[in-house]
Amino acid sequence: MKNILIIYTGGTIGMQHDAKGALKPFDFGKVTEYVPDLKRIRCRLQHHAFRQQIDSSNVTPAFWIELAGVIQKNYTRHDGFVILHGTDTMAYSASALSFMLEHLSKPVIFTGSQLPMGALRTDAKRNLITAVEIAAGDILIPEVCIYFNSKLYRGNRAEKYTSSDFDAYHSLNCMPLAEAGVDLYFNRDLLLPKPGKKLKVNLRLETQVGLIRIFPGITDSWMNGILAQEHLKGLVLETYGSGNAPTDPHFISSLGKAIQKGLVVINVSQCSGGSVEQGRYETSVQLNKIGVISGKDMTTESALTKLMVLLGEYPGDLKKVKKLMMTSLCGEMGLQPH
Ligand code: ASP
Repeated sequence: MKNILIIYTGGTIGMQHDAKGALKPFDFGKVTEYVPDLKRIRCRLQHHAFRQQIDSSNVTPAFWIELAGVIQKNYTRHDGFVILHGTDTMAYSASALSFMLEHLSKPVIFTGSQLPMGALRTDAKRNLITAVEIAAGDILIPEVCIYFNSKLYRGNRAEKYTSSDFDAYHSLNCMPLAEAGVDLYFNRDLLLPKPGKKLKVNLRLETQVGLIRIFPGITDSWMNGILAQEHLKGLVLETYGSGNAPTDPHFISSLGKAIQKGLVVINVSQCSGGSVEQGRYETSVQLNKIGVISGKDMTTESALTKLMVLLGEYPGDLKKVKKLMMTSLCGEMGLQPH
């Protein structure tokens, strides 16, 4: 029988209404009282609740370090991990963990819900039950995933795209790894292979990393305000379409100067599907010339957290950071559309 650790971090999933109708976290030690069906899954369940349970809008790199630490500490004793997390930043956390848990050979499955556990029409119970079933199942999933509303997504490929439907996530550049219908259907060809090496947990994150979303009318002074930050080490540039940005020489020259001074700039698209192709249009040729790195089809969440992990791991080796940013490390790149 497999040993599964459920880690509760906060978010809507672990909430119930109190006597006055306000939402508050329930005692997570009693999870099997709220979801008795969990006992019917063939596995031994243990749980760990974060001392301070947070709305995922308050997630920080320090939170990811704590979370990766909990997994590291419990790694040999457990066969799989299910992380209950708020939906707002779940894609960031799943992406971060996918790069922090190098050579992962066990399932780490994030899930959450749009309605609290205690609500009548809640999606919390079914999301939790199936996430545990997958983590405890016979098919090994040696990667960080998000299970939501009947689909298992690669964690660093998923994106929250609606705040009102139960189907809150999608992953346009990579098909789901599994779907829960009458049976659980696995897309086995897509699953990452089991690594031959031991788990390496990367706990050094560079936090001097930022994100700029290009918009029509973006000014030099706005851009320079960001680039002038003395300690900035990495920047994700969310561009249009297949990686296009204004050709204004001031914009390009400010960015070029920052890159020459050592800033690592990654180009990802504002579109949820498709890939950056620097040089395809005139509006991205300059980005190539000044040394902006194509993030190809990575999500923003993935590019940002990958940059934090790589700059943290190899602080003095920008050549290596840039090379690895262009390489798929754990399935975060490479179009596998539906
Ligand atoms: N604001 C909540 C959170 O992300 C929303 C949710 O859990 O769905 O923690």
